[in-house]
Amino acid sequence: MLAQEIAKRVRSGETTPSEVLAAYLARVERLEPQLHAFIRLNPRALEEARRVEGRLAAGEALPLAGVPVALKDNICTRGLETTCASRVLASFVPPYDATVVERLRQAGAVVLGKTNMDEFAMGSSTEYSAFGPTRNPWDPERVPGGTSGGSAAAVAADLAPVALGTDTGGSVRQPAAFCGVYGFKPTYGRISRYGVVATASSLDQVGTLARTVADLALLTDVVSGPDPRDSTSLEAEPRFAQALGAPVGGLTVGVIKEALAEGNSPGVLEALERFRAVMEGRGVRFVEVSVPTLRYALAAYYIVNTAEISSNLARYDGTLYGLRVPGEDSVETMMRTREKGFGPEARRRILMGTFVLSAGYYAAYYGRALRARARLKADMEAAFAQADLLLTPTSPTPAFRLGEKTGDPLAMYLADVDTVAVNLVGLPAMSLPAGFEGALPVGLQLVAPPLRDELLFSLAQAFEEATGGQFARQALP
Ligand code: GLN
Repeated sequence: MLAQEIAKRVRSGETTPSEVLAAYLARVERLEPQLHAFIRLNPRALEEARRVEGRLAAGEALPLAGVPVALKDNICTRGLETTCASRVLASFVPPYDATVVERLRQAGAVVLGKTNMDEFAMGSSTEYSAFGPTRNPWDPERVPGGTSGGSAAAVAADLAPVALGTDTGGSVRQPAAFCGVYGFKPTYGRISRYGVVATASSLDQVGTLARTVADLALLTDVVSGPDPRDSTSLEAEPRFAQALGAPVGGLTVGVIKEALAEGNSPGVLEALERFRAVMEGRGVRFVEVSVPTLRYALAAYYIVNTAEISSNLARYDGTLYGLRVPGEDSVETMMRTREKGFGPEARRRILMGTFVLSAGYYAAYYGRALRARARLKADMEAAFAQADLLLTPTSPTPAFRLGEKTGDPLAMYLADVDTVAVNLVGLPAMSLPAGFEGALPVGLQLVAPPLRDELLFSLAQAFEEATGGQFARQALP
């Protein structure tokens, strides 16, 4: 079901939050064994659904009344384990809710469970989870994308109508594309990160996933907006639902030529052409734009990302959180805990990040990456002087096979070629379902200028409406 419909039917008394929850739990029970989208369900969900019933009876207006939501397992939930799919946090129970969770509960949503991800949000396939991979609901031999692969698979298969993920370099958009759902990453600062476990702090944002633009807007309106507890939060009020139905005629979309230069599969190029033809029919103008420094984005991203990870992950040392493997003294305890607690990709990033920040190499790597980041920002600004929005593939290919890239870290990093630039510059972007290649969904990425997030929703909805929503079908009906 769709979130909008659920909330409406619950508010009108046609159904109750407990009934909705029961229906979803039955579906999870049936499909979860083949998908493994969740790390854990919320054992108190029914209790929470009943509480929403009480609030409805008391006359509270609840925009997400009785809507079950799936949360990526790096978003803190009070009293419910939050593991980041890592052994090092396997038993960590947060003492508080993240702001986004607080806002969801306030709006009447029911936390259904915590979704699978790559350990500490490092990866592109959800295969780097300490709890085993998630499978793509469109093809069980393929990955759902990552790192929010559990959230995307859950929404695609309607194990939950909507979900939250996080996006550091594409982790909401790329799984959304691979699973055929909408995935939105806001302007840096528009959704609070209070209570969200840090991966790379200058890049991380919470993002939203849904099967229609209207559901995406409903969810995004609830979770975004200023938060005094997050110092990077911006003073911008959410107006996502209001952006739906806005006229798009006269807008200019800039197709980034460097993103089309090579390596895109036929279904991706076909989706781009179709998008262009459909939207031209609605009065949107298309131009070619150039972002010359885009080709440095991936290299700069993997330096900035690993540098920040090496610093953020220093806190998992057996002292304050999660796993503790005792040794002879504190140093040995730290070493044992970290050796046991982190998987191979986390280790690789900590090592790379420590290296690029080290005294002898700082200027050559981290310093240069920051300069590339500044140039990229300038190039993006220049592109936005020619176009209201930018367009690229979300990923050069549809979902790849399980095991296809796990033996080759560089090949896995290359899967992010279209998504990381947006995070380096802090821009808002959305992946929208725009086609199929065989049985596999294909996504396109729209990018907007800072704080123009709502524009993405207007254009995506115009495309959805013009194509009758045919590219955002539910998997496993
Ligand atoms: N795949 C990218 C990485 O591994 C992005 C991950 C993310 O957005 N969390 O860093």
